[in-house]
Amino acid sequence: MSSKETNIILHGIAAAPGISIAKAHLYSKQKEDVSSQTVDDVEEAIANLDVALEQSKKELRKIFSLAVDKIGEKRAAIFDAQIMILDDPILISNIKDRIRREKKVPEFIVDSEISKYTQLMNQADEAYMKERSHDIEDIKNRIIRNLKKKKWKSRIATDVIVVTTNLSPSDTVLFTRMNVKGYVTDFGGLTSHAAILARSLNIPAVLGLHDATNKIQENDELIIDGYKGLVIVNPDEETLNEYKTKIEKLQSYDEELYKLKDLPAKTTDGKTIKLFANLDLMEELEFITHNCARGIGLVRTEQLFNHLESFPDEEEQYITYKDLADRIYPEIVTIRAFDIGGDKVLPVDLHEPNPFLGWRGIRLLLDNPELFKTQIRAVLRASAHKNIYFMIPMVTAIEEVRETKILIEQCKKELKAEKKQFDKHLPVGLMIEVPSAAAMAKDFAEESDFLSIGTNDLIQYTLAVDRGNEIVSKLYQEFHPSIVRFIHHVAKEGKKVGKPVSLCGEMAADPFAAPLLVGLGLESLSISPSIIPQIKKIIRSISYKDAKELAEKCLEMRTEKEINDALHHFYNKRIQDQIKNLY
Ligand code: PEP
Ligand code: MG
Repeated sequence: MSSKETNIILHGIAAAPGISIAKAHLYSKQKEDVSSQTVDDVEEAIANLDVALEQSKKELRKIFSLAVDKIGEKRAAIFDAQIMILDDPILISNIKDRIRREKKVPEFIVDSEISKYTQLMNQADEAYMKERSHDIEDIKNRIIRNLKKKKWKSRIATDVIVVTTNLSPSDTVLFTRMNVKGYVTDFGGLTSHAAILARSLNIPAVLGLHDATNKIQENDELIIDGYKGLVIVNPDEETLNEYKTKIEKLQSYDEELYKLKDLPAKTTDGKTIKLFANLDLMEELEFITHNCARGIGLVRTEQLFNHLESFPDEEEQYITYKDLADRIYPEIVTIRAFDIGGDKVLPVDLHEPNPFLGWRGIRLLLDNPELFKTQIRAVLRASAHKNIYFMIPMVTAIEEVRETKILIEQCKKELKAEKKQFDKHLPVGLMIEVPSAAAMAKDFAEESDFLSIGTNDLIQYTLAVDRGNEIVSKLYQEFHPSIVRFIHHVAKEGKKVGKPVSLCGEMAADPFAAPLLVGLGLESLSISPSIIPQIKKIIRSISYKDAKELAEKCLEMRTEKEINDALHHFYNKRIQDQIKNLY
């Protein structure tokens, strides 16, 4: 037996943090051969294409729901975007026209049509476009495979580090079922979807090593260091021990965070911030209670629609909301009315030119009072314990609030007549996620019981940057001065009229943003449950006085860069980061 070279150190891009030690599994996706045969029956070929497209969508929907399960709806949107490509009428009609004209097998035309896009993207200078071309390639291969009626094997041994040329977003998600310990690739960078997904999934990834698949063999022992972007092949005893110690330190850091479970998120000078959890999936509930949330600040109920593929009736909704309320009692559950439309599910097949500026959230609900009332009745019935808050998305005008309240009153009357129990004083709050609502925060606060700032949308609507459009993602800036000033304004105006103001956008989960948000006057935050311990640790290590000073400085700044720099400076100087101390 030939002895293997040990301790080969390979350098790549540190795409997702974390350290693992495991065996390598070389994964290669065979490329589907495409012939240019002619077809006799064109209509049959087109029918086959339709079946393959449908099957591809079905597969992607499955991957999407697995991804939602693992990383939440927002991050899983990558797969939604892939499904949309399969629905692109121009692409599909080009393919069908060519099948009719050229009488070639559909896989040949699909390959040629979609390759036009990938070639163009590959010629682009920006790494970003090149990365996206891999996603499109993935869709192309999926359709071709389905045209050939082949099944795709994504099952591999468990607990391995996957080494591959290029990782598709779907593989990244599917491999999590095998408890994969890390990803190593020849290609791909920080902005690749695989990297984004690996970060969300908490799986270390080192990408873009160029020749990892040549240098690593099946079953080689690997250390993957996602902090430094290193892969160590067949480590020697000393290196292995060094990394085992690092892993232990990381675990004890996690345990230390867990110890904060029952402690309040209180600054060193005594200001307590309530940390609530955002709930995207009912299955997360266990995790939420485990991660020290003080209740739920946002339930995205539109997920029920995704789950059931049709609108849940009053009874189905009532059972779900009541179960939630019972399990979280005596803490609060904030149930948000269906936020459908925009980039989210719609009950009808409607294609709007500007869906984000269209029929979304409260607009759609008020136009469908029966649907809205079904949800209101279910929420009211589940509120009998008095631990439910109800929240309205996408509010832009006071009339919307008043109309909603009229519907709530109607539902209360009906339930009373039916002798059904409910909380007579069900608190009704508003999402502040559109500039008009932020500007009129005081009026909206007066007309409601609480406010919650939805920065995901507030940023998109204030900066006129589509939150899901990667082309303009650089302009989607949570620390843009206008956003910082809006948050301050809403927190201040809410306080003036004695109404609590929370923030439930992704910004609340950003460790750099936490001191700023506290300093801007927010007294509660609602966050992805997995981040709660970290944010709690940050809050417990700062003083309110310093956070306020930081916020005051940021409110004077005129550029996003200045604010970003100030927050990073504050973080590095004031917040003990034990992970950093490992290096
Ligand atoms: C938001 O817009 O910040 C928010 C929390 O809601 P969603 O992400 O569901 O639109
Ligand atoms: Mg929103």
